[in-house]
Amino acid sequence: MLAEAIHRWSEARALDDAKPGGVRAYNAGRCVRELWYGEHGYQPLPRDGRSVLVFDLGTRIEAAVLWILEAELGADFRRATRDDRVRLEPLGNVCADGFVRVDGKWRPVDVKSAAPMGFERAEVGDLDGVYLAQGECYCRAYDADVCTFLFYDKATSQLAEIEVERDDERWARILADVRAARAGACPDRPYALEELCSGCDGTGKTPKRGQAHKACNGTGRLEGGPFIPTFPCNYCSFRDECWGELVEVECNGKRRLRPAKGDTP
Ligand code: SF4
Ligand SMILES: [Zn+2]
Repeated sequence: MLAEAIHRWSEARALDDAKPGGVRAYNAGRCVRELWYGEHGYQPLPRDGRSVLVFDLGTRIEAAVLWILEAELGADFRRATRDDRVRLEPLGNVCADGFVRVDGKWRPVDVKSAAPMGFERAEVGDLDGVYLAQGECYCRAYDADVCTFLFYDKATSQLAEIEVERDDERWARILADVRAARAGACPDRPYALEELCSGCDGTGKTPKRGQAHKACNGTGRLEGGPFIPTFPCNYCSFRDECWGELVEVECNGKRRLRPAKGDTP
């Protein structure tokens, strides 16, 4: 009964959340074709209830972290308010999570709750392009040289602080993507279908001994493929629009998606 109540709540939220939307700071680094669908009013696929719960927990963690920062850093940290929303052309309004004062200058801060794998990547400075673009937008919006991301590992409560420096080339790419996302023609897919076994680079042989590669039975091909790329396409809310009808297939113990008709629109 209790779990059902939570499921009801999350599933209702999932339907509510599925609204079309354009390019903003949080998604400026995503696939340009995905941005195009959002800008042109296409209806995104609703998230499932579990994703809503994951996202909701993340938001609560981020709020708690911001609260601690404010309590601990006093006058050198403040959470963002509605007044901190800044118009950043050509994206529209953006707002960081908070601001920290470093050497007398306010710097935008964004808190991210992360699953262990994402946290490990962030910890070694391997930031996802979506975060880099978001940091870039905040640097531009608040005229800062650096934006700080504070990552919080949801499983272990470890923290990692990563700085994203303002970068003109990155900003030029964002501007180009915004132009492409608002243009009339849908941009080409930046990703191709995956056909070849990545474990043996499609050779079907193990690299050292030249024996038949077990994962693909020596064929060099992914059984049941070709598949859409797991990342980012499996997580894209316009994947059906982009690739046509998709079917779910198991490949080497993983859930993969492939175009139902074998060809793509
Ligand atoms: S499914 Fe993949 S290629 Fe298509 S819009 Fe989404 S991320 Fe881009
Ligand atoms: Zn192989």
